[in-house]
Amino acid sequence: PLPPRVYFETVEQAPVAISITDDKADILYVNAAFEQLTGYSRDQLIGRNQSILSSNATPSSIYQQLWRTIQSKNTWKGILVNRTRDGGDYLAELIISPVLDAGGRIRFFLGMHRDVTREH
Ligand code: FAD
Repeated sequence: PLPPRVYFETVEQAPVAISITDDKADILYVNAAFEQLTGYSRDQLIGRNQSILSSNATPSSIYQQLWRTIQSKNTWKGILVNRTRDGGDYLAELIISPVLDAGGRIRFFLGMHRDVTREH
């Protein structure tokens, strides 16, 4: 196996916005691409909910479906309208998946997203 540091550096330098949250979507970690895309620094994001990125343009039925999916331990894929720190909206293509503990309970969520505004 690779040294743990390699896994960290790989996630840290990945060219896609990655976050790790608790089971309520409160942010525990974001990588460098996440800071770059959203315009928020880590310090501004850690402890805040992922809803900090919500533009209020996404119908709540989408969020309900998202939560139903991930709480039943499945992966959710979809597109949300996100807002950067300076108020710019972008289309975020997201993948959200649960991270389970040894007992099969949801421990964390992994979020990965990229800006697909120019592709739509
Ligand atoms: P709310 O009014 O708080 O929620 C709308 C509906 O969502 C509610 O009616 C409810 O059905 C459901 N809901 C919200 N929170 C919960 C909960 N804790 N448990 C069960 N159901 C709930 N949102 C984005 O807009 N952009 C993102 O990039 C984004 N990335 C995420 C990444 C991860 C890893 C996770 C776990 C969540 C992410 N979310 C993201 C979802 C985010 O946490 C919020 O649920 C969403 O933004 C709606 O928040 P709100 O305050 O606008 O609406």
